[in-house]
Amino acid sequence: MISVSSVDKFFGPLHVLKDINLSVPRGQVLVVLGPSGSGKSTLCRAINRLEPINSGSIEVDGQPLPAEGKELAKLRSDVGMVFQQFNLFAHKTIVENVMLGPIKVRKLPKEEARTLAMSLLERVGIANQSDKYPAQLSGGQQQRVAIARALAMKPKVMLFDEPTSALDPEMVQEVLDVMTDLAKEGMTMLVVTHEMGFARKAAHRVVFMADGEVVEDSTPEEFFTKPKSDRAKDFLGKIL
Ligand code: ATP
Ligand code: MG
Repeated sequence: MISVSSVDKFFGPLHVLKDINLSVPRGQVLVVLGPSGSGKSTLCRAINRLEPINSGSIEVDGQPLPAEGKELAKLRSDVGMVFQQFNLFAHKTIVENVMLGPIKVRKLPKEEARTLAMSLLERVGIANQSDKYPAQLSGGQQQRVAIARALAMKPKVMLFDEPTSALDPEMVQEVLDVMTDLAKEGMTMLVVTHEMGFARKAAHRVVFMADGEVVEDSTPEEFFTKPKSDRAKDFLGKIL
């Protein structure tokens, strides 16, 4: 469903993605791990074409990434993205935040968009907060709204870039629970996270990146019990 082949990316002289190859088959979860600066966010942004790449190719659902126009808008709605910072619209209510994409991009009538938004808020467990404003919700609740907002576009795949790292520890699990449910329902997901429990339980594969390279691509079992490279061993030693 997501296929990244021989991708290179430079920021000026800085080579941040070096011959990256990976794939996420339909219905599977890939967890991407790696130290700060290894290129994880850049990879996510490249898959959503928020960053152009210098060479190689990226396909989503068998289609190469379009450069612009209507096709790019379609790609962006096929690829849902959830960031560390939730970026909800502060002056809109929770339900309005979720309705916005379906109305603007999918051209849904307002009442249909509201029904859809309420069902998604139900799914992430905060339908009862729908008329509040983002600032009235906890960080974990806001991140669940951000997930509902991404799902409202009916994406084919979901990218998560450290969705829990800005949260207070007691709110991490409620967001991971929503992500685990999504995975169980068969959503295709690429997840950058430092939550090793999630990686062990939910990932079909784990990719470990360092210095812009894919250093290991293995099952969670292999990665956590028998990491092959010194860099992965070092990383696990620090994080576990
Ligand atoms: P973290 O775990 O801290 O989020 P990361 O693995 O997501 O790190 P990236 O944000 O992808 O790493 O950054 C990879 C490298 O590219 C870093 O050296 C970073 O400084 C650099 N970089 C990222 N964005 C830009 C940019 N817009 N311009 C120049 N350099 C950038
Ligand atoms: Mg990052």
